[in-house]
Amino acid sequence: MEYNNLGKSGLQISRLSLGSWLTFGKQIGDNIAEELMDIAYDAGVNFFDNAEIYSRGESERVMGKVLKKKGWKRDSYIVSSKAFFGDGGQLPTQKGLNRKHLVEACEAAIKRLQVDYLDLFFCHRPDKSTPIEETVWSMHNLIMQGKILYWGTSEWSAQEIMEAHMVAKQYNLIGPTMEQPQYNMLHREKVEVEYNQIYKTVGLGTTIWSPLASGILSGKYNDGMPESTRLSMDGLEWLKDANLVDEKLQKVREMTKLAQEVGLSMPKFAIAWCLKNPNVSTVILGASKAAQLKETLTTMDDLDKLTPEILEKVEGILDNKPAFPAF
Ligand code: NDP
Repeated sequence: MEYNNLGKSGLQISRLSLGSWLTFGKQIGDNIAEELMDIAYDAGVNFFDNAEIYSRGESERVMGKVLKKKGWKRDSYIVSSKAFFGDGGQLPTQKGLNRKHLVEACEAAIKRLQVDYLDLFFCHRPDKSTPIEETVWSMHNLIMQGKILYWGTSEWSAQEIMEAHMVAKQYNLIGPTMEQPQYNMLHREKVEVEYNQIYKTVGLGTTIWSPLASGILSGKYNDGMPESTRLSMDGLEWLKDANLVDEKLQKVREMTKLAQEVGLSMPKFAIAWCLKNPNVSTVILGASKAAQLKETLTTMDDLDKLTPEILEKVEGILDNKPAFPAF
């Protein structure tokens, strides 16, 4: 495994990490969740990603039980949570980025994960109904109280991230260290263009999600719908409709041939492509089976196979390179 700084912070994060959305506490049994964490940890993964909304708190509970059972040294891993959507409660005070919810969500995540503090705490989405000053002050105070170590954002615009930094600067507070955006061959704009300036100015780190676009970039949907997969799950029709569209499938089919040419499986090819972007601090892997994770975790060894010529061929197939503004 390789490690790098999370943005301009001194925190060393593994380039591959493990997430729990839709799997822990939902699609997979607790025994599989434990096996996945074991495999990841043994391979040098040091970051486990979570959120209050994942299986309405259950994902954190499952991860917490594994962390406790394993007894891994607390200084050997990084664990996160995210607040905004709540953990299922529908009352107005049970969500958002206001001080009350951030403090309560942090406490709840610490309890469910059975840790003394969270390493990373994300604002899961921007909150138009809370002043940015309140959010920045709340996160800063959680750091001062030792309840979180670094805070970040997820799916914020570059402008929103910069507003947070301006507030932090004005009051001498700690600003956001990292952003968690979606990034994969089929979804590129924010990471490649929108954040381009702020990697340099504020030293933004990124913990990117859905590197396989929920599995479509594994190539397994190329010839129809395989059973027992995420996009065949009841209740996830919205995700299927967003991903299983002809235009995307056609690109993945062509990409699968290119992956074969370079001697890589399609999942590894798609993840290697994400890792090639130097502004990606860590690629958060998802898996429902041990074999999937064992496969994708070896991707670091194959980055050299994505030569400039191959990357050019990738662009030819994708035909979606986001353009920089002309001015
Ligand atoms: P991916 O896009 O990589 O999808 C993971 C899924 O793809 C697996 O669960 C599995 O689904 C399938 N898969 C994985 N490896 C293979 C393989 N080798 N061969 C075939 N199929 C494979 O990532 P996720 O969407 O899971 O996102 C990763 C993490 O990012 C999440 O767990 C979460 O922590 C975070 N995230 C954050 C969000 C945010 O808003 N901040 C939003 C979403 C995710 P199956 O076997 O069921 O088909």
